[in-house]
Amino acid sequence: MSDQSIVLHVAVQAPAHSQIGDLLSYAHDAPLPPGTLVRVPLGPREVPGIVWDGAPAHAPAGGPLRAVGAVLGGLPPLDAPWRRLVAFAARYYQRGLGEVALAALPPALRELTPEQLARRLRRRAAAPALPPRPEEAGEGEGVTSIPIALSAEQTSAGAQINAQTGPFLLFGSTGSGKTEVYLHAVQQALARDERAQALVLVPEINLTPQLQARFRERFAPLYGDAAIVSLHSGMTPPQRLASWLAAHAGQARIVLGTRMAIFASLPHLALIVVDEEHDASYKQQEGARYSARDLAVWRGRDAGAKVILGSATPSLESWHASSPGVGRYRRLAMPSRIGAAELPRLRLVDMAQQPRRAVFAPPLVAAITERVERGEQCLVLLNRRGFAPVLHCHACGWKSDCPHCSATQVFHKVDRTLRCHHCGAAGSVPRACPACGNPDIVPAGRGTEQLEEQLAALLRNVITPERRAARVARIDADTTRAKGALAAQLAQVHAGEVDVLVGTQMVAKGHDFRRMTLVAAVQPDSALFSSDFRAPERLFALLMQAGGRAGRDARYMAAHQSAPELWVQTWHPEHPLFAALRAHDYPAFAARQLAEREAAAMPPFSHQALLRADARTQEAAQAFLQAAGQAAREAALPGLAQVFLYPPVPLTVQRVANVERAQMLLESASRAALQAVLAAWQPLLHAERSRHKGLVRWLVDVDPQAI
Ligand code: ADP
Ligand code: ZN
Ligand code: ZN
Repeated sequence: MSDQSIVLHVAVQAPAHSQIGDLLSYAHDAPLPPGTLVRVPLGPREVPGIVWDGAPAHAPAGGPLRAVGAVLGGLPPLDAPWRRLVAFAARYYQRGLGEVALAALPPALRELTPEQLARRLRRRAAAPALPPRPEEAGEGEGVTSIPIALSAEQTSAGAQINAQTGPFLLFGSTGSGKTEVYLHAVQQALARDERAQALVLVPEINLTPQLQARFRERFAPLYGDAAIVSLHSGMTPPQRLASWLAAHAGQARIVLGTRMAIFASLPHLALIVVDEEHDASYKQQEGARYSARDLAVWRGRDAGAKVILGSATPSLESWHASSPGVGRYRRLAMPSRIGAAELPRLRLVDMAQQPRRAVFAPPLVAAITERVERGEQCLVLLNRRGFAPVLHCHACGWKSDCPHCSATQVFHKVDRTLRCHHCGAAGSVPRACPACGNPDIVPAGRGTEQLEEQLAALLRNVITPERRAARVARIDADTTRAKGALAAQLAQVHAGEVDVLVGTQMVAKGHDFRRMTLVAAVQPDSALFSSDFRAPERLFALLMQAGGRAGRDARYMAAHQSAPELWVQTWHPEHPLFAALRAHDYPAFAARQLAEREAAAMPPFSHQALLRADARTQEAAQAFLQAAGQAAREAALPGLAQVFLYPPVPLTVQRVANVERAQMLLESASRAALQAVLAAWQPLLHAERSRHKGLVRWLVDVDPQAI
């Protein structure tokens, strides 16, 4: 055996909350560059690791250090910017460096032996390499292979993106052609440098196929099919590995992905686009609870890459950052729709004026009927899946509570089951009330499935111009569980085989339906009075987004002499949110919300973190939080004077799968102070944990999206 004389610092994935430090030391017979993938012994196992930065040292031969097991030498090391990103994310979101670093790699890569990796890399090398660069590419500024002429607003946005460093907040109405601006910016970035790479993030996998098609159509002729890859959780492990390797090797020039793609290795990153930047799905809800949008801004600045955040309804954080007084982001406005298409007119239906128990107000049904008879499409939005949320006994008041959660099981008519949407527990529907034996238990409340049925019944006699009966179809999490189901259903809508689409927010975002002219939100009220201070912001964004599906094609609308409408059924038509919605005035809505937030010192005027505890009992969960707060005060943690610790409270859904959950909110006007407290708190929390027997786990959520 050669002498093991060099000490390497290696990031490994230590079990969550174990006390293993961030980096472990191993001996090796030669120095390895930081970023090299290795396999190292950890306890009885061999685990993947990444050689990390750190002063080289000599270890005494035969010393106590264990030796590196294998080196995955065929792979170029993960570069310093990637390591900085991972280190920042770990620090900021209060997780282990190794945990974040290894989780950022595709699972298939973590499992490969050096031999398997070498074989894979050989196979890649054997595959046809980059295509010959066609003439159009490389002309630099003013490349004109763009088939459509940009609108004046698109041109202006594009010019600013070209000339300034950013980050940019592209504030463009729905249908203003934001995607075209992204395509243009990507084209500019790739033409400027023949190795440059662009990362384009979208909120949901559902949206990737349409976007991917547009990027492929535009860039495959220029750079070849292999230059455009996707990265999201819907891919198989081998697919993900292939995309990841292509990005890491620099062959992929454009990576399209969901939030996880923010951690892709992109050695020549020149541009990051975050589409629908306000979307809550950019926040990871497990493990390291990172915000891909916020990391995009950090990564862009660190790597010298431009960042474009795009939305018709930006997050209040980004809006505030781009306000003239703050100016951290450069705001680019595109208020007009392409082709002078109109934005939908708001039709508020006061439910107090409607027949009692009507789910669909008669005027709305009439409006839908009229549209369908003209051959136009309508979208009915509801944000709850399942047939009916609750089974209910009128005789004794029993309802279908989940036995494991403080939530109610939902009645699914298709397979006649009761399912808990929190823990997944499912059972069959009882024949009679389990409490009193009453055989007449009925569904209460409404889900998309029931809406679909009711609507189909209401439109039973409606005939389309093609002289066929109106078709109602539903798209939600239940109808799209099978692979490819969503794409197939969306294709039917695009092909005009569906007249009325009933769906959840899944169909409200992003899609470019060309014949849709009416959108209706049937039950949006709960969000008006939610305890979550972000609920109005979300509702406004959802309604604007959903409304944005209507009337996108100016020529179609003109030919049909049709005007787009957004219908909202509400018991609170006087609510100020609707006034802003009517005027399509996001700035007015944002200004009012921001004034309220400022007065109450809430984000973005303060910074928040949650300490959460899960335990066998609510008392145990809260006791841990109480003790953690006490420990912080006793230790007089640095920055604590500027951080407010709220008392522990149960979560809204307090019990899930028999685990009680509680949380404690931390708030500070100073992000730095909050970060200092969280960092110094970690060891105390680990120590406290062992003193609380009933505790299942604890976790920290920095910049939480829901309180
Ligand atoms: P957004 O993302 O802002 O909602 P899209 O980028 O989807 O809007 O654009 C809306 C529609 O307008 C799309 O069908 C797109 O192809 C079309 N479009 C965009 N820019 C132009 C343009 N400059 N000329 C003609 N059509 C355009
Ligand atoms: Zn009963
Ligand atoms: Zn449950």
